[in-house]
Amino acid sequence: MEVTKVINATRDFKIGEIETHALRGVNLSIEDGEFTALVGPSGSGKTTLLQLIGLLDQPTSGQVFINGQDATRLSRNQRADLRKGTIGFIFQFFALIPTLTAYENVEMPLLLNGTKPAERKARANEVLKAVGLSDRAHHRPDQLSGGQQQRVAVARALSINPKVILADEPTANLDTENGKQVMDIMQKLNKDTGVTFVFATHDPRVISYANRVVTLQDGLITKDSKVNGKS
Ligand code: ADP
Ligand code: MG
Repeated sequence: MEVTKVINATRDFKIGEIETHALRGVNLSIEDGEFTALVGPSGSGKTTLLQLIGLLDQPTSGQVFINGQDATRLSRNQRADLRKGTIGFIFQFFALIPTLTAYENVEMPLLLNGTKPAERKARANEVLKAVGLSDRAHHRPDQLSGGQQQRVAVARALSINPKVILADEPTANLDTENGKQVMDIMQKLNKDTGVTFVFATHDPRVISYANRVVTLQDGLITKDSKVNGKS
């Protein structure tokens, strides 16, 4: 079954007199277990599309289904609940809370969704272990390398046991070695737990991991290919 389905989605932004058609009628269906790269030049609409799929934003027209539910028909609160239960995010600039430890950052989504303390602790430790950072649990972000910080962000996204993890240029601020570590971990999680990943990137080394490459250009999908991701 598909984790998410976008039907005829458009997204217009208006600032003063200037209107931008960031998405101009996008149709995309992502199946359970995919490891999909969203590629295209800067300004092509990758971030806008991830924000729609992630229920952080709403289309100007069209529909966004998550886990079979039409999110465009839900109230703001219902959408937030659906997001908190099914979607994890990874951002380009990690977006960790600087004053919290790695463990506390990972625990945060579990606090927000009301997970009981004992289960919270077990789950936070489990996902930190899954990204190889058990020994860094009590470090703050500024005491970690960029790659380690992004792996904390991967663990945080994973903590709620999401259906899909959306990653917007997850390696753009990492050197080659750290970028590779982050992609290796994401791929391993996809293989071991089946969690679906959709990641926006223009880095060829990152694209090479994907099993499917969806190309955006000027707010439209222009190419969609199944590929053999590197193993
Ligand atoms: P990409 O992630 O592929 O670089 P974006 O989705 O960020 O592309 O942007 C697509 C287009 O929409 C760009 O022209 C961008 O300037 C515009 N855009 C994105 N977000 C906003 C916004 N919040 N307000 C106005 N214009 C925006
Ligand atoms: Mg972007």
